[in-house]
Amino acid sequence: MPECTTCGTRMSHNDETTKLTEYVCPSCHQTEIAYKPSYRVTA
Ligand SMILES: [Zn+2]
Repeated sequence: MPECTTCGTRMSHNDETTKLTEYVCPSCHQTEIAYKPSYRVTA
């Protein structure tokens, strides 16, 4: 789990798709999107 860049609180898992994971801070509600490294765009 990443930590909030604003307040340092450990972020909680908010949503997940096949290509990204979304985290939300329980304190300041900042969201962070983590793109999965395994996801590759096929041109
Ligand atoms: Zn925060």
